Amino acid sequence: MNTAAYYNLLDELKPMNVQLLAVSKTRTPVEIQEMYELGQRDFGENYVQELVDKQTTLPAAIRWHFIGHLQSNKVKYIAPFVYMIQGVDSLRLLLEIEKQAKKNHRVILCLLQVHIAREETKFGFSERELMELAETILLYRKEDKLAGIHIAGLMGMASLTEDQQQIRDEFKHLKTLFDRIKKTLPEEPIQTLSMGMSSDYPIAIQEGSTMIRIGTALFGERSYTKG
Ligand SMILES: *Cc1c(COP(=O)(O)O)cnc(C)c1O
Repeated sequence: MNTAAYYNLLDELKPMNVQLLAVSKTRTPVEIQEMYELGQRDFGENYVQELVDKQTTLPAAIRWHFIGHLQSNKVKYIAPFVYMIQGVDSLRLLLEIEKQAKKNHRVILCLLQVHIAREETKFGFSERELMELAETILLYRKEDKLAGIHIAGLMGMASLTEDQQQIRDEFKHLKTLFDRIKKTLPEEPIQTLSMGMSSDYPIAIQEGSTMIRIGTALFGERSYTKG
């Protein structure tokens, strides 16, 4: 873990009111504990088993975010403690989170993932699907069926490309959808626009990001072999 990188990034973000999510996938509990001791509370993980293992050994004050694709049948393992699920990419998943949250007498914050990249491999709703989902959420809410979840905002990943303009256009598009969904769902606490990673966060911030998800720039390159 790089203390100077952490403080520099916080300094950079402070005047802009952008939250930092430390992406700790593949990092050891010791590395996470070190960053926790510097004051970091929000950590992001993308494997269920890894998240469950870390959660049991690390401080309870950590807010754990699940980032990336989550299978519906695994929601039950993280529902007792997860703070926010970033990457809700189907109604089925949303309803499973709702069910498991209620079972645990909790409310889980959800970000809807939007597919903004040109690559086909990334998960997420298209613009049309997102707006359809918003209508469904409105209906369910009216019937008091979503007591276990809050829609807290949107999440997206830009294309992996050197083309800065393309990345900017993709983030701009997501910001437009964010403003739109706020109006469509006025009763949801929609405040989080999660966009930007180590390679593209400065552009994401310029385009209106409120939360960046940073791994490599804080912890160094990931090695998938060490654990
Ligand atoms: C791994 C990951 C990140 C962080 O990526 P870095 O390039 O290491 O900053 C952000 N978002 C998601 C969804 C990820 O899976």
